[in-house]
Amino acid sequence: MGEMTELELILVGKTESHIRWLTPNIGINSQMLSAFKQLQLAAKKAGIELSIASGFRSFERQLMIWQNKFSGRTAVKDGSNQVLAIEQLTEAEKIHAIMLFSALPGASRHHWGCEIDVYAKNLLPAEQALALEPWEYQASGHFYPLTVWLAEHAKTFGFFLPYNKFRGGVAQEPWHLSYLPLSQHYQQAHTEALLAATLLNSDIQGKTLLLELLPDLYQRYIVNVAKT
Ligand SMILES: [Zn+2]
Repeated sequence: MGEMTELELILVGKTESHIRWLTPNIGINSQMLSAFKQLQLAAKKAGIELSIASGFRSFERQLMIWQNKFSGRTAVKDGSNQVLAIEQLTEAEKIHAIMLFSALPGASRHHWGCEIDVYAKNLLPAEQALALEPWEYQASGHFYPLTVWLAEHAKTFGFFLPYNKFRGGVAQEPWHLSYLPLSQHYQQAHTEALLAATLLNSDIQGKTLLLELLPDLYQRYIVNVAKT
């Protein structure tokens, strides 16, 4: 790989130069800080303590998630929340199973810093851990008021839900917010060629098959999102 531009480094999660750290573990794009604070304040006025479960993730962090799932160290679930017997799957089945819930390193929108997984701190029952599963956000779930509020107001502050429904690629993620003024720019700049070069240069498990399947994976999982 030749010298990468600052934008390319951001696109594949290889820099933190664009990140402002809100806590030691949660960082967001510094250009989104003001919009996020406004969103959070408006939610607060509606009785919702909008909180970030996950913001920026680096290439290395996403690679660790991938390697742990590919090797079976972390459980991989199917669309019905059942744990898969990963050792019984072909390599291609394994890749698709992982990509239902986890992005390829170099292709996670969380690299960009303008993507956040959110929940309502004050609506989480005291004895309950945050699961980040769709049922929490659905009509009978404790975060449903957040879902309703976001559907009504997120757009006003520049945010949208790229994974608002299942499109045959990534599973529905009613908690994943994207800041459109930044993410549309990053998404336009991200390319299959940049991702291929990044993966080729890494020690990702399943690399040979991943590179072979990449044109299909790119269309099915990476660009297959809501536009606004
Ligand atoms: Zn997310």
